[in-house]
Parts: sequence; C-alpha cells; structure tokens
Amino acid sequence: MNDAGLGPDRPVVKPFPEPPRFVVDLMLGSLARWLRILGFDTQFGPDFDDDALIRTSNATGRLLLTADRGLVARPAARRSVQLPPSGLDRQWTSLNHALSLGQWIRPFTRCQVCNVELKPLTRDRARERVPPHVFDSSRSFAECPACRRMFWPGTHRDLILNRLGLLRALPESHADWDRPHDEAAIPRDASRTI
Ligand SMILES: [Zn+2]
Repeated sequence: MNDAGLGPDRPVVKPFPEPPRFVVDLMLGSLARWLRILGFDTQFGPDFDDDALIRTSNATGRLLLTADRGLVARPAARRSVQLPPSGLDRQWTSLNHALSLGQWIRPFTRCQVCNVELKPLTRDRARERVPPHVFDSSRSFAECPACRRMFWPGTHRDLILNRLGLLRALPESHADWDRPHDEAAIPRDASRTI
C-alpha cells in the first residue's frame, strides 16, 4: 500500500482520466510485455534498478509495478502497486482489480519490443513488406515506426486475449493487429499458447 491508495486488494475509486502508463520492475517482465500487447505505455528493462524505477515514476507520473514489498514501502515510491511475484494470470487479475483497466485496453496497437504505437499501413504499402500468403490473407497491416516490424491480424489475437480472459469483453473494433513479422518478437508466454 502507498500514498496513492493503490494495491492489489483495493480498487481505485476515482477512474483514470487517461490511459495509465507504467514503469515495471524487471522481475515482472512477462507482465510488462503483456501490458504493451494490451496497448499500455510500459517502460521496463535492466536499466531500471529500484532507484531508477522510483525516479522514473515520480518524474513521469508512471505507476510503478513491482512484487517487492520493500520497494512499495519506500516513502519515495508514491505511485506504486505491489503485485504477486509469479503467475501472469494472478498478476493481471490483481492489477486489473486495483486499477480497472478494461476501458483502456487497446490490444495490438503498440510494439511489444519498442513500446511505440503502431502505425497502420495501406495495403499498397504493405505489399512489399510481407510474404505473399500473408498479404493475400490479411486485410490490414501496421508497422512499428521504431523497429519497422510488421504486424497483421492472425490467430495469436484470440489466443492471447483468451489467456487474459479478455476476448469476450472487447468489442470487435479492437480486433486489430496481432502478428509481428519477426516471430522472435512474440513474448515467450504467447508462444507457448500456440
Ligand atoms: Zn518496434
């Protein structure tokens, strides 16, 4: 628990006026990748030690997510949420319960490698960028402006959303991008669902 009143067992009463952004302890790296897949601006990585997590959170307004009780207890960690140390499903459920994230979920709108918003590409522009069978079978395409990976709808979408219990909760308009051209960009957890 912390000054912001956030915690896995306490919903936030006041809804966020805009999508919450996160800085995530590396120990929750799988969750961080999933948050990007769901469209949330999420920073994490080996450069973020405890002090950097707190500094970034306070300087940018990002919520600090960690499983470290001691870190959450530090007075400087003013906007922090403690989550279970393992189990992606438990972590997501706990976070969603605390923050009511549903209205902000925009799956497959952000590169899970770069944390940059994807940009739609016309079919004409996508033609030279994807394999012919993909071009013929997909109606829409997007590109990460940072790493230039290509994304297009595919079977990953339902598998990923099912994993988080989200599939039936989302309107069809959210059925956007799914498959990175570079399969290595898919988080390990996603790969295992296939
Ligand atoms: Zn990228």
